[in-house]
Amino acid sequence: SEPVLEIRNLNVDYGLGDASVQAVRDVSLTLHRGEVLGLAGESGSGKSTLAYGVTRLLPPPGVISGGQVIYHPEQGEPYDVLRLSDSELRAFRWAETAIVFQGAMNSLNPVHKISTQMDDVLRAHEPTMSAHSRAARSREMLKLVGIAADRMDAYPHQLSGGMRQRVMIGMALILQPQVVIMDEPTTALDVVMQRQILGQIIELRERLGFSVIFITHDLSLLVEFSNRIAIMYGGRIVEQAPASTLYRDSLHPYSAGLLGSFPALRGPRRELSGIPGSPPDLKGMPSGCSFHPRCPKAFDPCAARIPVLGRPDTPDGASRSVACWLHPVG
Ligand code: ATP
Ligand code: SF4
Ligand code: MG
Repeated sequence: SEPVLEIRNLNVDYGLGDASVQAVRDVSLTLHRGEVLGLAGESGSGKSTLAYGVTRLLPPPGVISGGQVIYHPEQGEPYDVLRLSDSELRAFRWAETAIVFQGAMNSLNPVHKISTQMDDVLRAHEPTMSAHSRAARSREMLKLVGIAADRMDAYPHQLSGGMRQRVMIGMALILQPQVVIMDEPTTALDVVMQRQILGQIIELRERLGFSVIFITHDLSLLVEFSNRIAIMYGGRIVEQAPASTLYRDSLHPYSAGLLGSFPALRGPRRELSGIPGSPPDLKGMPSGCSFHPRCPKAFDPCAARIPVLGRPDTPDGASRSVACWLHPVG
């Protein structure tokens, strides 16, 4: 199907010059209309950095040092988000692409009612909309995410964490964006809640027709809910495939490790049992394939040369890509 967002060769650094680290490297990824694209990888792999780069919300000292983010509006010509002016960017955010941050439920303003905060978003983007219509829209969005109308005038602290997260989703959808990016918190305790929230997002997507990038460390959620999965390691996409394909037949040893280490549904976060060792330090990234010090299948070329992400030479190669010397790519 048609693309709605095309990330092309994106590079993001933290800091400048010699002191900089490369947090996202040469990432190319396409989100298609109506699809749920899952992004997984261990802590520090660059998932949030990628999401904030795409929406140009990188906190300092984050800088985009290369690439393009081509957005396809419903009407009109595609354009590069990285070239928008500040005012164009303000119009783009929320209305075209909305992002629900990691820990968003704690980013509501504690001194304002939920209804006021939703109204602020509408007023900023739809200046001609009447107060009555704005209130109706806010009510409708809260209803969509399963929050009763009588909670509209609650303050954030009067709602549970799960409800606050749903309010944030309601706010993200309020201007009917085409793309919603969700960056989930990484604590294992939240997995049950993540599952509920993701289920709800999928249902809303079917009704409202937007596309989703869902970021989590929990690959099991993505296998269940997403159409396609991209796996990140050390700032790069190392594999990308339809969810069922990845689950059945992952090609990259890191994906296989992640699949072999689904986190426990309850209890404290535990070590990923499938992968020994820890993720690389950006300041001392291993040479060649950055996974090689941990890879059970590493062989001659791995420490010397970086494998390029490409289509593997398999019967279903057209629908997937991998960056590993074990799999020749075309
Ligand atoms: P998590 O699953 O923990 O959310 P992530 O995949 O979202 O991890 P990022 O937060 O994007 O990872 O971080 C990617 C890398 O960039 C990490 O090595 C991190 O230490 C580094 N990084 C993130 N923010 C900054 C910053 N403000 N300054 C310097 N380095 C940073
Ligand atoms: Fe392992 Fe080598 Fe493949 Fe990297 S390129 S994942 S080290 S086999
Ligand atoms: Mg993150």
